[in-house]
Amino acid sequence: MIQETTSPADSLTAEAIAGLKSTFNGTLLRPGQDGYDQARAVWNGMIDKCPALIARCTSSADVLSAVKFARRHNLLVAVRGGGHNVAGNAVCAGGLMIDLSPMKAIAVDVRGRTVRAEAGVLWRELDQATQQHGLATTGGTVSHTGIAGLTLGGGLGWLMGKHGLTCDNLLSVDMVMADGQLLSASETENEDLFWAVRGGGGNFGVVTSFTYQLHPVGPTILGGMVLYPQNQAKEVLRFYRDFARNTSDELMIFAALLNTPDGLPVVALLVGWFGPVSEGEQHLKPLRDFGTPLADLIAEVPYVQHQSLFDAATPHGMHRYWKSGNLLEIKDDFIDVVIEQATRQPSPFSFILFFHIKGVAARIDPAKTAFGLREDQWDFDIVSQWTDPADAQTNIDWTRNFWSQVEPYTKGVYVNHLGGEDEATRVRAAYGPNYDRLVALKTKYDPTNFFRLNNNIAPN
Ligand SMILES: Cc1cc2nc3c(=O)[nH]c(=O)nc-3n(C[C@H](O)[C@H](O)[C@H](O)COP(=O)(O)OP(=O)(O)OC[C@H]3O[C@@H](n4cnc5c(N)ncnc54)[C@H](O)[C@@H]3O)c2cc1C
Repeated sequence: MIQETTSPADSLTAEAIAGLKSTFNGTLLRPGQDGYDQARAVWNGMIDKCPALIARCTSSADVLSAVKFARRHNLLVAVRGGGHNVAGNAVCAGGLMIDLSPMKAIAVDVRGRTVRAEAGVLWRELDQATQQHGLATTGGTVSHTGIAGLTLGGGLGWLMGKHGLTCDNLLSVDMVMADGQLLSASETENEDLFWAVRGGGGNFGVVTSFTYQLHPVGPTILGGMVLYPQNQAKEVLRFYRDFARNTSDELMIFAALLNTPDGLPVVALLVGWFGPVSEGEQHLKPLRDFGTPLADLIAEVPYVQHQSLFDAATPHGMHRYWKSGNLLEIKDDFIDVVIEQATRQPSPFSFILFFHIKGVAARIDPAKTAFGLREDQWDFDIVSQWTDPADAQTNIDWTRNFWSQVEPYTKGVYVNHLGGEDEATRVRAAYGPNYDRLVALKTKYDPTNFFRLNNNIAPN
């Protein structure tokens, strides 16, 4: 679990907080007050940090007041969007938590095919609003993830093969900067800042709203999963690797080793076809003809339903520990290590995931946005999850041991899948070839590293 230095909170007198209240329309919560524990809880149940003050913002004016207050009182700042970050960076020990989750406004421009959403919106909420008009943008694969943190780190999702990453569909942002300025950024305004927020994470300021390009999607798509017993994992993963790479941009396939709710270890090929439904069968035929599955659950389903395919495996509050890295190839001996490790998995809730980054997401020029890892590749994740806090060490040990064996096969890492205890070299590798430019922009927009509770890019 990441630990950060507790920042001074002694200056937070009742008088100081009353001063903030006079310019703040949301709710201010101190330890012990009703709603405080609920507001500081994040997705990873292992994170238990107590901010000196939580500012539940309702507008960019509230965010501005909170940022100025933190500056004046020299407080460590955590920024919370959807609270999904596995390292728990959305909350701080001592200091000020700027909680954006009450900021839920969504405005769809149907004719212009864009949507503007405030920073507390979750993917489920955005998808529901845009799907009312048969539109969507590339969004996360778990519907209770926040749009904010996911977009700022890049954004991997079912539509990335066809439409690029979430950040590739970003048209503009509104932000509160470390010096208290309100700025907008787009291709025509503060272009360097706009470049940086498309992959540079929460390093540059608090984004209060995002405007995205939308595309016609659904209302139904062909999707679901095919399940095989784990004793077929070697053949299934080899087939998967070869097949997934040679498919249309409209066909996305992820793979996972997991246990079914009744405890059966399986390999799942998770599928989404985003072309015309009538053409999907023909593209999926080699997969549906392969091997002897336990179940083929691919069907025509509403897009919003498909967007929650992973939800049941990722409920709020379980204790978590992750390791992640990118794979340019899935080698035979790598598959062997993964299968061997899966048999030793201590918790039935844990899973191993191959997220294929392909198509448009992989072809964009690495210099076009701050997200620089633009190759056809897999984001590989060891997701340890357990319920009893006493099981923490066993699960962490398994994950670390597994990781030590597979790390040599990886190159780079998706910044949003770093676990919080990673060395500076891994954080740097996540920003790939764009790191030096990001440092220069961090130095320009946040020279004192005011926003540092993140996968930090330290200013010069
Ligand atoms: C179950 C699960 C499924 C996931 N699935 C996907 C997926 O399909 N695709 C994918 O790409 N990623 C996925 N992720 C990773 C996800 O992108 C990150 O966890 C991301 O940080 C979540 O955003 P959030 O707003 O919910 O997080 P938070 O924890 O609220 O924020 C994370 C960090 O982002 C920054 N931040 C958040 N909001 C703002 C803001 N408004 N302004 C400035 N900085 C901000 C802060 O540094 C903060 O610490 C998943 C994570 C989980 C736990």
